[in-house]
Amino acid sequence: MSRFPATRCANCGTVYGHRVSVCRECHADEMESHPISGRGTVYATTTIRVPSAKFEGDAPYEVCIVDVGTDEPVRVTARLTDREDPEPGDEVRFVERQNGTIYFEIHG
Ligand SMILES: [Zn+2]
Repeated sequence: MSRFPATRCANCGTVYGHRVSVCRECHADEMESHPISGRGTVYATTTIRVPSAKFEGDAPYEVCIVDVGTDEPVRVTARLTDREDPEPGDEVRFVERQNGTIYFEIHG
């Protein structure tokens, strides 16, 4: 299983799932790579019917809020590679991050 490429503030240790250049907690700008477990759980789902230009033609599609990582989960917005209807509580695995979009697949 792929590790999830989280980022950690070198100053205060806050972990981020999405790329940030400045820490929201302490405002330091020194971020370090912090891979965590790619195992995650769906927290919520939303169907996007009016997509941004980047995803025009994909709509409608599901976007999930996923808590990823086992020790210190971080909450990220992601899409699923398989188009099954996800439900809150579903177990997912990290697949890849492509052009800033995070992709998971349903586990099992
Ligand atoms: Zn910080």
